[in-house]
Amino acid sequence: MKSITGNEAVDAAIDRVFAGEQLDEDDYLALYDEPVADLTAGADHVRTHLADEGVTVRGLGYVTRGICSQDCGFCAYSARHDTDVEQHGVVPPELLEEAAKRAEEKGAERFNVVSTRRGADSELRTDEWREVLTAIELIREETDLNVDACLGFLEADEAEKLAAEDVQHYVHMVETSPRYFEEITSTHSFEDRLETLRVAKDAGIDLCSGIIVGMGETPADRIAAALELREVGIDVFSLNVLSPAQGTPVAEKVGDSPDITREGILKTLALVRFIHPDVRIDTNTARAPITREEFLESGGNSLQLGDMIHYEDYPVNEA
Ligand code: SF4
Repeated sequence: MKSITGNEAVDAAIDRVFAGEQLDEDDYLALYDEPVADLTAGADHVRTHLADEGVTVRGLGYVTRGICSQDCGFCAYSARHDTDVEQHGVVPPELLEEAAKRAEEKGAERFNVVSTRRGADSELRTDEWREVLTAIELIREETDLNVDACLGFLEADEAEKLAAEDVQHYVHMVETSPRYFEEITSTHSFEDRLETLRVAKDAGIDLCSGIIVGMGETPADRIAAALELREVGIDVFSLNVLSPAQGTPVAEKVGDSPDITREGILKTLALVRFIHPDVRIDTNTARAPITREEFLESGGNSLQLGDMIHYEDYPVNEA
């Protein structure tokens, strides 16, 4: 066995990852107890040799931000929680195009068109859906950006429409493990989320999915979620750190700060790199208590830019 990190357990895991072996949940849980510096050095080695070179940057813009019927315990947009959240109706496609252009000027290669709804089928109104497709078309015509979409649950015909617009990634988080998911959401299941990923994949769209850490889950939950996504076959893993939204059950549980240490974030990132050796791993380092450099040297290779649109002129539409 070649010594990469000087840590026998980590080096043995690297050997197995390079051999294309699938480590299991117990293997990863044992690795989680190894020193963070060894894990991140190992993850950096895996990224360097098995993942695409370079760092990609992803911008995003909300096409609409409204209250959602679902009860995800971390989400400020749930109608079930008493939160003070900015809402706005559908914004003109030209505004998203401008936001995309600004993101491109800041180095973005991808732009994610986002709506905070349960799904296009049930809550994204026909006119909003039309605006989404127009915005995607405009961004593709007027920029060199790849366009991603994050619109909630998806039906097959909707996925085909997005595929026809050359949407590159469908972005749909699983948030956490199947076990912990049941503790924080009752209105839909982990399996429902996987199903939307499969629908998008069947339409030929690449997948971006991932988790939120710091919601009160255990390291085993984070590992289990990453393993589930390996089964589905994703192209981008999004590792998000919770920004507790006051008024949500998860914020009541964890308080003002995410329930995870810096070390916990770095260890999770490193293990996600072992589990997904060749995918892009992205995060928003502006929200995470780690630096951009630490992220990129611990297995990460994609960065998110924040939202770039101001919405006060676009009130929520009446249903
Ligand atoms: S389905 Fe999405 S928008 Fe709705 S409450 Fe859950 S996370 Fe929030």
